[in-house]
Amino acid sequence: MVQTVVDGVPVEVRRSARRRRTVSAYRHEGRLVVLVPARMSRAEEGEWVRTMVARVAASEQRRQRSDGDLVSRAAELSKAYLDGRAVPTSVRWVGNQSSRWGSCTPAEGTIRLSDRLQGMPGWVVDYVLLHELAHLLQPGHGPEFWALLAPYPRLERARGYLQGVSAASGLDLSDE
Ligand SMILES: [Zn+2]
Repeated sequence: MVQTVVDGVPVEVRRSARRRRTVSAYRHEGRLVVLVPARMSRAEEGEWVRTMVARVAASEQRRQRSDGDLVSRAAELSKAYLDGRAVPTSVRWVGNQSSRWGSCTPAEGTIRLSDRLQGMPGWVVDYVLLHELAHLLQPGHGPEFWALLAPYPRLERARGYLQGVSAASGLDLSDE
């Protein structure tokens, strides 16, 4: 198993003796797993890894959720977990958040999610969105804040997932 980071994407290369010519790739827990034939040269492998990273990034770009989808998802999550009390004035994706998965400005009711979340499982994106929604009701990270999030079934799993991605990519991204 070889782990590298290509264009900010943690990559795991798996060589398969059964594979003869084809290369394929899939997302797994924040990494891109690239399957290559065992006999491929290192130089060819490097070329293919870059190609697959670019290809997957392009397809995820096409699938990326629009800001409009985020707004309606925020309303659903607020209703499901916060009795509909968190009502953001705007929810949008941003590309320039290098140290946070999400942020909010409670005084203005605005929420921003890092576009680094795009391509991650929906339950991880939901967690970050719910986290920021809860901040509209509770600014800090005290017990009252975590009590608001407690009903979310995949709370600890989502936090662990994000910590894993941060560690694997060498980024110090925080969910706080
Ligand atoms: Zn927070």
